[in-house]
Amino acid sequence: MIDLKVADLPAFTHTPIDSISATHARVVEKFGTHTTRPLAYRLKQLESFYWALKDAEPALLEACSLDLGKSAYEAYLTEVGWVLNDIVFMHKNLKRFMKDEKAEDTSWTNWAMNPIIRKDPLGAALIIGAYNFPIQLSLGPLVGAIAAGCTAVLKPSESAPNAARVMQRVVEESLDPEGYAVVQGAIPETTKLLDCKWDIIFYTGSANVGKIIAKRAAETLTPVVLELGGKNPAIITASADPRLAARRLLWAKLLNVGQVCVSQNYIMVDRSILPAFLKELKQAFKEFQPNGAEDNEDYGKVINERQWQRLRDMLDSTKGKILIGGKTNKETLFFEPTVVQVEDQHDPLLADESFGPLIPILPVDNLDEAIRTANAIHATPLGLYPFGTKAETDKILASTRSGGASVNDAFFHASIPTLSFGGVGDSGTGAYRGRASFEAFTHRRSITTTPGWVEGLLDVRYPPFGAKKLKKLRGMTDLKPDFDRKGNRTGGGVWWLLGVSGSNK
Ligand code: NAD
Repeated sequence: MIDLKVADLPAFTHTPIDSISATHARVVEKFGTHTTRPLAYRLKQLESFYWALKDAEPALLEACSLDLGKSAYEAYLTEVGWVLNDIVFMHKNLKRFMKDEKAEDTSWTNWAMNPIIRKDPLGAALIIGAYNFPIQLSLGPLVGAIAAGCTAVLKPSESAPNAARVMQRVVEESLDPEGYAVVQGAIPETTKLLDCKWDIIFYTGSANVGKIIAKRAAETLTPVVLELGGKNPAIITASADPRLAARRLLWAKLLNVGQVCVSQNYIMVDRSILPAFLKELKQAFKEFQPNGAEDNEDYGKVINERQWQRLRDMLDSTKGKILIGGKTNKETLFFEPTVVQVEDQHDPLLADESFGPLIPILPVDNLDEAIRTANAIHATPLGLYPFGTKAETDKILASTRSGGASVNDAFFHASIPTLSFGGVGDSGTGAYRGRASFEAFTHRRSITTTPGWVEGLLDVRYPPFGAKKLKKLRGMTDLKPDFDRKGNRTGGGVWWLLGVSGSNK
């Protein structure tokens, strides 16, 4: 597969719908053999997958360029290199992740039953990918599924067909064909996949489609992980450093042309610092793109005409004033990073998720107004980006919710590969990455083993009951509080003894 070019691969074609049930049956049957559970099987899949991806690296980078105009630098950083590291991390830690866990703080009476949590694979997984990071968002969950001992079918986004083609080749050449498969297609194929009974569905994409997935999964009581989008706010207080804020937030909108679920959807800036922030923003544009965004090989394109048109319509509908940028080209799907000053929170640029290089700025009078507005626009976004003093950013974190947050930065939290990543409320359910990827596909199975010799202790559970047995049971099971009736901390057992002797008076 070394020297593979995208053009060497068969054209992107949708998987025949009538073959999908058989593919599902195959991976379900394979899971039923329980041969995907041993550590050795999982490690072997990860090893083989790693080297196949490594060999396919040039083709994967080429595919990202064809689909999204991604530079090789960006595609390596956020896609190929990311997944390769993910595999190495998982491979290194898998044995430890798989170890049984002891129950916490178990009482001496339960200790004999050895209560443990075993990390069982959930079963056969369906993974549905999104287009913006077509490789990372498809293969990241797949690495989790393999590590957990699940079998899986991957349905990459049809909007990034070249990445989908290369990933199919890599999966088919490197993974156990009985346990792992790729289904290509769009709504009809995904709908057919959703007709099947899975043990877990892992979906990345828009909230609207997320609702369809969750409804279909509910019909068969299938657990879901939903990685959705969000109208993420950035808040710049009067005491923030305008240069740092400008550089960091602009970076977040240049990367992947702003097609990043965690990039800020809008920036609220304290009026007193607005002129300084805008000056620094212009300066940052000059430094990052000295010759502008067009024909800039570090700057990609919008994925397709439909998304380009959606962004253009958003920009046309704003009542705000364009301060920087605004140039677009439908033919080349170019969309200049565009800064727009808006006057209120109901502007379309704030009301909808742009998922593109739009940078609306809403001036605010103070921090309280910014917090109120952020909560009113979206109470549970995927990310939140406060810039200011420690006291200010702490106040923002304590008065808002979000899937994750980067203090004094744009989505840095999402670039830590071992930090679990996910939304909250309507920006998503569940999380993955690092250890969390293993856990997302794992069932924590509680197990006890009751030895014969404890029968004497278990006598308390057998009828006939009575006051004497109850006293014995309480002596064996009651935990001692370390707080009194007024909420004061006490010495636990000491207080309990005092309390008991007092209540007996
Ligand atoms: P999308 O919802 O259009 O497509 C995602 C997947 O869903 C694709 O594989 C597609 O084939 C499938 N799909 C589309 N319509 C479907 C239907 N009716 N029934 C069944 N399946 C269907 O999402 P997208 O446009 O690829 O991605 C953009 C959205 O995803 C944005 O909202 C963004 O914020 C979000 N996103 C979230 C994350 C995250 O990790 N939280 C990552 C990337 C993108």
